Amino acid sequence: MRCIESDAPEEVCIPELPEVETIRRQLAPLVEGRVVARLEIADPRWCLPLLPEAIVDAVEGRRVQQLGRRGKYLVWRLEDEAFLLMHLRMTGTLLYDAPPGTPYERVRWVLDDGHELRFCDPRRFGTGELALGGAARDAFFATRLGLEPLDGELTGEALRKMARGRRAPVKAFLLDQRRIAGVGNIYADEALFRARIHPLRAAGSLTRAQCDALAQSVRETLLAGLAAGGATIDDFRHADGVEGAFQNEFLVHLRRGEPCPRCGTPVVKFVAAGRGTYACESCQPRPRRPRARRPAR
Ligand SMILES: [Zn+2]
Repeated sequence: MRCIESDAPEEVCIPELPEVETIRRQLAPLVEGRVVARLEIADPRWCLPLLPEAIVDAVEGRRVQQLGRRGKYLVWRLEDEAFLLMHLRMTGTLLYDAPPGTPYERVRWVLDDGHELRFCDPRRFGTGELALGGAARDAFFATRLGLEPLDGELTGEALRKMARGRRAPVKAFLLDQRRIAGVGNIYADEALFRARIHPLRAAGSLTRAQCDALAQSVRETLLAGLAAGGATIDDFRHADGVEGAFQNEFLVHLRRGEPCPRCGTPVVKFVAAGRGTYACESCQPRPRRPRARRPAR
């Protein structure tokens, strides 16, 4: 376990969309078409308020038709329209054929081909939920998740419509999963830097050109993360236990005091949307205070 920034590991909140999608792409060919012969839930907290038996009943003996993703959720589509919805939260990871005794195991899948999958989660924030039927699945996500940034839904125009009239900082706007699904602290900082927008700018104050730039930079940043196999800062692991590499490509995130890759000005850290936030205040000009609060001249 490694943490590339010593201060405040609680700021680390991965996996985000690229990390979940990386896991999904690795696991999908291994689990799709297989029957879950056995599901063992060692930690009942994982599926609260449901009892483990309810999840086991719905999953055991059913074939996995598809391993999908929505936002940061992994979506297991099983026979008879049963959906297991998993959120890995901060430290959860799925390991394929990890050795027995792997620490922090909370859930284990035994597949009909003899292979095993383990959900290991040191901080135990990860969750498993059940939706029976496509309508129940859609209702679950409708209240939680907004548009999918990599499905072509995230355009400058869509972003501008959502941001209209919003006074909240654009960083908070990006982190709100009910608007754009899957963006977390890392990718928000990186996308705002690429679009040259200060994280504290009011979302509703962005120009049309800035909305276009931000929609594009969110997609680019997520795709760059995906291409690098996600970021590993603390506990994130691929299904084969390998770490992602995107942390080596961060432009500003966790780079306090280092020169901005564009202009050389030291990267600064401050709090935005309650989160440790990194920016170059030369490339991303800090918003001026509202006129009314300026001292009269
Ligand atoms: Zn700069």
